[in-house]
Amino acid sequence: MLIVQKYGGTSVANLERMRAVAERIIKYKKEGHDIVVVVSAMAGETDRLIHLAKQIISNPPPRELDLLISTGEQISSALLSIMLYSLGYPSISFLGFQIPIYTTDLFNKARIKEIKGEKIKNELYQGKIVVVAGFQGVTEKGDITTLGRGGSDTTAVALAAALKADLCEIYTDVEGVYTADPRIVRNARKLKKISYEEMLEMASSGAKVLEMRSVELAMIYKVPLIVKSSFINSEGTLITEEDEEMEKVLVSGITYSRNEARISIYGVPDRPGVAAQIFGPIGENGIIVDMIIQTARPDGKADLSFTVPRTDYKQTLEIIKEVGKTLGAEKVEGDDKIAKVSIVGAGMRTHSGVATKMFSTLAKHNINIMMISTSEIKLSCVIDEKYTELAVRALHEAFQLENEVYIKEEN
Ligand code: ASP
Ligand code: MG
Repeated sequence: MLIVQKYGGTSVANLERMRAVAERIIKYKKEGHDIVVVVSAMAGETDRLIHLAKQIISNPPPRELDLLISTGEQISSALLSIMLYSLGYPSISFLGFQIPIYTTDLFNKARIKEIKGEKIKNELYQGKIVVVAGFQGVTEKGDITTLGRGGSDTTAVALAAALKADLCEIYTDVEGVYTADPRIVRNARKLKKISYEEMLEMASSGAKVLEMRSVELAMIYKVPLIVKSSFINSEGTLITEEDEEMEKVLVSGITYSRNEARISIYGVPDRPGVAAQIFGPIGENGIIVDMIIQTARPDGKADLSFTVPRTDYKQTLEIIKEVGKTLGAEKVEGDDKIAKVSIVGAGMRTHSGVATKMFSTLAKHNINIMMISTSEIKLSCVIDEKYTELAVRALHEAFQLENEVYIKEEN
């Protein structure tokens, strides 16, 4: 089999852990598999580099920042390769630009466009273990880019897709995907498997196990994905195509996110083109809008509220203040002390009553809902940040997630 294994920052945090990782890789190699390894920077390294730059100026030029922060993965990939060599296994490490992994030129948030697989295949053919620096790529013009925080997951899945790997394993410091964050809900349960779609909704709504873009890619290219611990030997969670069993589960998990902020713009003209005027400049800056609520008012105007990543809060607020001026808005304001709590499950597609249960559970605990959004298999509520834990625990209990519960078919 051709297996792509990705090791996160904590798994390569020091030489001792790196050695354990190398030994695991060698075990697979000995079983006869071809192994491509993707590594993150050593734990804390990316933050350290960003902090260095920010001591000089609060908003470093994005191109220069990418050149800087991509070095974290250069260190870890080279060290791991040296470690493998020291244990008697020929290995070669590559940076993104050497492969190349071509990306768009949106620095700090670049997206992979194309991966050339020849070099890697050649090295595998010669029996080597190939180590690839995660999180980075190169533009057609030759500038180094990074893929956004957590982007090594995406490198791994994209490589698995490009190389048509049989499996992509993501090794991390948790044992898999849980029904809720085990730090908040003590009896959270590890899921054996979950569909791409559910995982995508979970990742997009705050589950930190996998970066969202990586799940998207896995779903598009049907890359079987396993999330597991690099510290303990356990089965992990398989992320794959939806099957009958998955459909029978009403709610698979509860997620939360404190990474969002709300922006509201009041009293804009209620006519065609206004939404485009508001969201155009946000999109051009690579900022991703999550929930949107528009309310038409009796006076012919409209109020709009939406959420963006909290890290983009200030920039978005500035953009919208400008847009507000040109549109003659009455007021622009925001709140970054919010949280989004979501329930996700393939069974929601065919069963009603889930929303009512969610709302009444929150109501029972006196938690006010500020915004609601739904998809086929997800329901999210924005609440006051300080009720996050309470909401997650209450919902986990209300939907009985501590046990594996299947929907009872009524005949
Ligand atoms: N080192 C990068 C980060 O800390 C990428 C990754 O870990 O996936 O965000
Ligand atoms: Mg990471």
